Amino acid sequence: MLRTALLAASRSPQIRTMVEKFPLTHAIVDRFVAGDALDPAIAAYKELIATGRTVTFDHLGEDTLDVSQATATTDAYLLLLKALEENGIAAGADVSIKLTAVGQSLPVDGEKIALENAHRICEAAAKIGITASLDAEDHTMADGQLSIARDLRVDFPSVAVVVQAYLRRAEGDCRDLAHAGSRVRLCKGAYKEPESVAFQGKHDVDLAYVRALKVLMAGDGYPQVATHDPNMIKIAGQLVEWNNRTKDSFEYQMLYGIRPEEQLRLAAEGNTMRIYLAYGQEWYGYFMRRLAERPANLTFFLRAMATR
Ligand code: FAD
Repeated sequence: MLRTALLAASRSPQIRTMVEKFPLTHAIVDRFVAGDALDPAIAAYKELIATGRTVTFDHLGEDTLDVSQATATTDAYLLLLKALEENGIAAGADVSIKLTAVGQSLPVDGEKIALENAHRICEAAAKIGITASLDAEDHTMADGQLSIARDLRVDFPSVAVVVQAYLRRAEGDCRDLAHAGSRVRLCKGAYKEPESVAFQGKHDVDLAYVRALKVLMAGDGYPQVATHDPNMIKIAGQLVEWNNRTKDSFEYQMLYGIRPEEQLRLAAEGNTMRIYLAYGQEWYGYFMRRLAERPANLTFFLRAMATR
């Protein structure tokens, strides 16, 4: 119920205005978002690499219906890549692209524009040895995401595809994607989806996650285990053993600000631990999804509002 309400609120302009105006919001948002501009994001990245972690950057934004906004987001990624190169800290980094932020939802030529913009980002990234990942969004965007990924992979085979385990199609998608050289981030899924396309309860989603992870770990690709769930992490470790995988043949991923001690533990064991580092001014949707994932985050937020 609460999750559904928060996910609905994440798409409400009225609630957005209310939440953005609340004076204490920023202090809470800072837990999940590494600042509203490039400089704090670079500073957060430096701290993460100093402690053995690596990063995928997300310049926040999604669902744009404006061509100039899609271009502006693309330019923001190019600026980020330039800054990483100039600071000499590009090695090992990745950029996460939300295709709806670079044009996929535009009413005319959305997929074509998203592909062109994502291609520009991938090209600039490849020049400095950085990889790119295509985030998974609303299930209606999934076919487009896979089709754009196929096109991008012709020129940039390292482009990672994100699969949401809660989608009933996930296991089949993982089978198609588990080939040599294919980087696949497996997450549970953060949106409100109908029962016809997605498993609903935590237990069913967890089972679906394990089924999809088994496919990826047994395959020839490079699984990216994106979860904070201790059980999923334990199972991932077992699957690594059963499939005789070496530490350079998969990685763990977590979101910035969530379970930092566990991030450090996994990194200290010699695993690649990649942190999804979100930054920028369009934090509202991302922040509301983080609240929806964990009621304790909401309690913290409401308590701050009440004591105000
Ligand atoms: P859960 O069962 O939700 O949580 C397990 C435990 O993790 C909780 O008990 C709690 O201890 C901790 N935890 C989880 N979430 C939070 C939180 N917000 N705050 C504090 N603690 C928390 N989703 C998409 O739909 N598309 C994407 O492209 C996408 N990319 C992602 C990239 C990365 C690197 C990660 C880690 C997640 C991504 N997600 C994405 C979000 C994902 O789908 C889940 O919504 C999110 O990770 C919570 O699921 P969980 O696997 O951590 O398990």
